[in-house]
Amino acid sequence: MSNKSQFQKAAAAIAFNENHRKTIRFNMGKYYAAVNAGKARYKNLEAARSRTANIKRHTLENLADYLQEFEKNFTNNGGTVLWASTDADAVRFISQILQENNVKSVVKSKSMTTEEIELNHELGKIGIESVETDLGEYIVQLAGEKPYHIVTPAMHKSKHDVAELFHKYFDFPLDSTAEEMTALAREKLREKYLSAGAGITGANFIIADKGAICVTENEGNAIMSTAFPDIHIAIAGIEKIIPSMRDLALFWPHLAQHGTGQAISSYSSMFSAAQKDGETHGPKKMYVILLDNGRTQLYNKEKFNVALSCIRCGACLNACPIYKNIGGYTYNTTYQGPIGTVITPHLKDFNSYVHLSSACSLCGACSAVCPQRIPLHELILENRKVAVAQKLTPPIERAAMKGFECITSKGQRMDCVNGTVKNTAIALFAKHAWGKKRTMPRFATQSFRKRNRKK
Ligand code: SF4
Repeated sequence: MSNKSQFQKAAAAIAFNENHRKTIRFNMGKYYAAVNAGKARYKNLEAARSRTANIKRHTLENLADYLQEFEKNFTNNGGTVLWASTDADAVRFISQILQENNVKSVVKSKSMTTEEIELNHELGKIGIESVETDLGEYIVQLAGEKPYHIVTPAMHKSKHDVAELFHKYFDFPLDSTAEEMTALAREKLREKYLSAGAGITGANFIIADKGAICVTENEGNAIMSTAFPDIHIAIAGIEKIIPSMRDLALFWPHLAQHGTGQAISSYSSMFSAAQKDGETHGPKKMYVILLDNGRTQLYNKEKFNVALSCIRCGACLNACPIYKNIGGYTYNTTYQGPIGTVITPHLKDFNSYVHLSSACSLCGACSAVCPQRIPLHELILENRKVAVAQKLTPPIERAAMKGFECITSKGQRMDCVNGTVKNTAIALFAKHAWGKKRTMPRFATQSFRKRNRKK
């Protein structure tokens, strides 16, 4: 089954799932309340959006220079930078480091980049256990699932769903409170931190002038994943670079505000080097893997490369009426929602993912909330234009659109048949595409023009 058919089938099934809708509404309701309240903290939110957007645009224009500056500074700090062109390169680097150091288990803090390279799965193949330490990630890993949302991986699970999961795997009482379940996860994870040979993190930002990476989180799990093991490996997409540590004063609160409505995340850490001579804490070796994996391909497309300004706050997913109805898994991509719809066809094979751009009402809610001022809905439309220009749409659709254009471009043509004929025609030709659960729209028996003329 093609990606497109799979998507259509999954979307049709989940869109009418009342339980799914109820859980998402409940969890997103809490997000909206926090984000709306948080906006009041800004003296001038629009100015902050423009400033961070401009910093990122400037960084992208000078991407190679800033990445090299980071490499020089991080190497001078004693760390190692590895450049991964593909997901396979990144997996190979990580596997080599772990095998050379005889590592049997790793603790991992939340990172969409590691999802992109399917790290847990790949490490499992060579017998290395990889344990997620972010609570949401821990829950989805236990359930054998992938993150549902780029910021809130277990957003689709209710408290009861998690209780059932903990009951199944740990025989934990079904009526446990959220606090009790969190305490249990914490207890289980403590053992993992202490026995892991390496800690793997992503990076929310890479700082060129400092030669450091930044990780923001709310549970302290990234700090523990890097504090206990002897090796710290961070993996980040090349677009995560920002010029200076000074920029963090703006980016850190900006990411927290748009991601969760917080003034700043509970733990914001900067890692610039492994343990130095005479120091007693921290990992003994530190590596940063800079991942391309299709980003250069996107970078080289002038109209689209603005999408690399994304700071992965997830606000566009929460604003999107389609995401809220079909949920994160339907996309079958690492990055879901509007940003995933824009970038995935360019990061991967365009033809296999451009169908996502048709699952958009072009309402513009995503662009309106994006802290980086990425014109997401316009880019989605651009994706569609590319698909049409490259004749990637099915021949029948192309013929139908030609027919539609021909008929609707002249009022007289629209009026040459009455409403009954039009209704019969759309029932015949469009019913399947319209779906079983929606009522077909109906044409009036007489058009407005005709009625108006009579009057
Ligand atoms: S596109 Fe904008 S709103 Fe969406 S995740 Fe990226 S920064 Fe956030």
